[in-house]
Amino acid sequence: MRPFTYTCPKTVDDALRAYMQTSESKFIGGGTNLLDLMKMGVERPPQLIDINKLPLTAIEERNGGLRIGALVSNTAAANHPLIRTRYPVLSQAILGGASPQLRNMATMGGNLLQRTRCYYFYDPSYAECNKRVPGSGCAALHGYNRIHAILGQSEQCIAVHPSDMCVALAALDGEVQVKGPKGERSIRFADFHRLPGETPQVETNLTSGGINYLDRFAGYLLRTPFLLPEGAGSSFVCFRARFRGGDSGRGRGRKDSRSANRIGRGRNETLARHTGREGSCWPETG
Ligand SMILES: Cc1cc2nc3c(=O)[nH]c(=O)nc-3n(C[C@H](O)[C@H](O)[C@H](O)COP(=O)(O)OP(=O)(O)OC[C@H]3O[C@@H](n4cnc5c(N)ncnc54)[C@H](O)[C@@H]3O)c2cc1C
Ligand code: SF4
Repeated sequence: MRPFTYTCPKTVDDALRAYMQTSESKFIGGGTNLLDLMKMGVERPPQLIDINKLPLTAIEERNGGLRIGALVSNTAAANHPLIRTRYPVLSQAILGGASPQLRNMATMGGNLLQRTRCYYFYDPSYAECNKRVPGSGCAALHGYNRIHAILGQSEQCIAVHPSDMCVALAALDGEVQVKGPKGERSIRFADFHRLPGETPQVETNLTSGGINYLDRFAGYLLRTPFLLPEGAGSSFVCFRARFRGGDSGRGRGRKDSRSANRIGRGRNETLARHTGREGSCWPETG
């Protein structure tokens, strides 16, 4: 067992102060991804900052659009009347992922920052993983990779961001609001995540390896992960291609990944025609 400290601040500023005091700290929302990664030894934060007492749980109308707090649960967002009627693709995308129990725990901010589901990333007994250990190689390139990328990959990493919800948010062209010790920023959702490129360990444009939104300081707290513009949502529909046939994820290799995405593209016409947004890959759990 690796020791870590735990703190549960009540204000955003206290949470940021706690973050500043211990480097490599982690904020914890629902914990559905972070705790798994800690158990596997992939994430080893010396301090957990529980953000569940922060006042970030509102869904509010703002300038004709919608503002969704970072701590709104995935279930509450998917079932909210304003989201269901004005942005049904977001509701459909959230409900297409995970399970009711997980969606009850998972927060909007955590969903946005969840890590890839690449098997090799989760298993430190594999030495090769450029995302986990920069410069070590990529075991998935020649291993099990049916849930990996067919677009946007690099020689260093072929992993995808696994969020169903984020695909819908990219289509809706929302904004993410963040606060760090040096200020607040709004970031266009489409600019938030990065392709793996040469530095797959840098996953968003928040950190000093990215666009430096927060003055070269990597600590930030998502406050309002999504600010959705007026009238953006009604013309999209969400489809999810699922594997069936007894293989729970590992094993059939890249060919299957390609054919699944072909199916996805065919069914996903409406979304792709408007925005070209595709993404998210999960091993079959249902
Ligand atoms: C069995 C299983 C099946 C799943 N299936 C799917 C699926 O089909 N589709 C899908 O899209 N997802 C799926 N998920 C993933 C799930 O959606 C994510 O685990 C969840 O959304 C993460 O939210 P959380 O609040 O629990 O995040 P946490 O685990 O608490 O945190 C995740 C990361 O976000 C950071 N973080 C959290 N909140 C903030 C904040 N406000 N500011 C800054 N940093 C923050 C944490 O530090 C951590 O790095 C599945 C998960 C499991 C375990
Ligand atoms: S695809 Fe990316 S996350 Fe997976 S093993 Fe390769 S470098 Fe690691």
